[in-house]
Amino acid sequence: MSEKVRVRFAPSPTGPLHIGGVRTALYNYLFAKKYNGDFILRVEDTDQNRMVEGAEQYIVDCLKWLGIEPNEGVSFGDGSYTPYRQSERKNSYRQYAEKLVEAGHAYYAFDSEAELEQSKAANPNAKYDAETREHFKNSLTLNKDEVTDLLKSDAHYVIRIKLRANEDVKFYDEIRGWVTVNTSQMDDKVLLKSDGMPTYHLANVCDDYVMKITHVIRGEEWLPSAPLHVLLYRYSGWENEMPKFAHLPLLLKPEGNGKLSKRDGDRLGFPVFLLEWTDPKTNEVSSGYKEKGYLPEAVLNMLAFLGWNPGGTQEIFSKEELVDLFTIEHIHKAGAKFDFEKAKWFNAEYIKRLDDKVLASLVKEDVEEKFGTVDTQYLCRACRLVKERLIFLNDITSAYGYLFKTPAEYEEAILFKVKNIKEILILDDFIQLIGTFYEKDEEIENKIKEFATTNAIKAGDLMKFIRVSLVGEFSGPAIPDLILLLGKEEAAKRIRNCYDQI
Ligand code: GLU
Repeated sequence: MSEKVRVRFAPSPTGPLHIGGVRTALYNYLFAKKYNGDFILRVEDTDQNRMVEGAEQYIVDCLKWLGIEPNEGVSFGDGSYTPYRQSERKNSYRQYAEKLVEAGHAYYAFDSEAELEQSKAANPNAKYDAETREHFKNSLTLNKDEVTDLLKSDAHYVIRIKLRANEDVKFYDEIRGWVTVNTSQMDDKVLLKSDGMPTYHLANVCDDYVMKITHVIRGEEWLPSAPLHVLLYRYSGWENEMPKFAHLPLLLKPEGNGKLSKRDGDRLGFPVFLLEWTDPKTNEVSSGYKEKGYLPEAVLNMLAFLGWNPGGTQEIFSKEELVDLFTIEHIHKAGAKFDFEKAKWFNAEYIKRLDDKVLASLVKEDVEEKFGTVDTQYLCRACRLVKERLIFLNDITSAYGYLFKTPAEYEEAILFKVKNIKEILILDDFIQLIGTFYEKDEEIENKIKEFATTNAIKAGDLMKFIRVSLVGEFSGPAIPDLILLLGKEEAAKRIRNCYDQI
């Protein structure tokens, strides 16, 4: 690519950034980095009534957590197109709308809300377009003086685009190929609102032009707006600078069809937000991937594969590898079904690959909050022992709490299954044996087996009892490993404790 690639993520902070939006941001990031381009965060907040408190900061936090920081834009970098918040660029848009009026591609419309409602009531299917505009009150139907007077008065007016009747608008989408839409399916959209604010369409196109955006990579829900945007470029005389468009397929719910929603997540038990979000109105708290114990690297890898695949069977790729491999050509045309099991698989794979020390540092706070101060070296060894078994980071405290806390009371139903040991095991002899263990798994296992044979106990029964004593359940890491981690004294203490409770 000869010109410098510049892409933007342009969310409207009307609520917490959804995982689909995060994927859009990620694809923009990967594409920008691949071509050493710029990745820009532009906040599209022209519809001030719909803005939600905290939603902008939440977007920034999500991008940071995932490690896909823009190098330019709101809260990032010091780019030369500041400000990057559209509400702060408010005054720059009018001139573009007025130029379109001068060139005959847009017009002033003075219809009041009530008049528009009335015409809608008379004909619910009617649009404001080439066919109907002559019946409305606008600068095409009124005479010049009337228009000048109205503009001078404090009458409310908007600026609308003037679409030609029955014109095919054709443009190339990098994912879908050629798309043609006839203007009969469109309407004369408002570009500048009566309060002087631009609509999404005008602000979006003007900013993409001014900020020298080369590629617009965004969700499929914006595809219907693209023909209008193409016309805005054409009518503004910017067609040669028009960015390339790539509309990403939808993220679909795991079963059935339709867009993945927060309700699907709640119903099936997975988050649709990256980070915890508290609704400022209802105070309802929604948990995020971070709080559920996901690693950002795993979420990034998982998201990259939701709608894109470099080919081949390998699925685990670092961010740098993804940057290297990413191409728009490999984005799928069909919607991508969200797969929660796959998300868990990615996370488990990433946890397995973590260095023990790193894993320990990631879980330390959670462990200490629940079980008090833990020796760092001990924590590293505990992590090594259960690393292969963790799906989420916080499994270490929810499923393996026994690594940090002596089981106080054993469940009766579990004790019942090992109660035969009471009659056949001479506890003191066994505790003495523990005292002879060295630091080797095999040696411990052999010694236990030997002890069982000499004392006419089934090795399986003895092992079951030891396991229950150490962890309070029937599954978990290998017994010798557990004894080595917990230490001989702690192991002996637990065994005695369990024996006494039977
Ligand atoms: N503001 C739009 C949104 O909320 C941006 C669409 C675009 O990227 O052009 O997603």
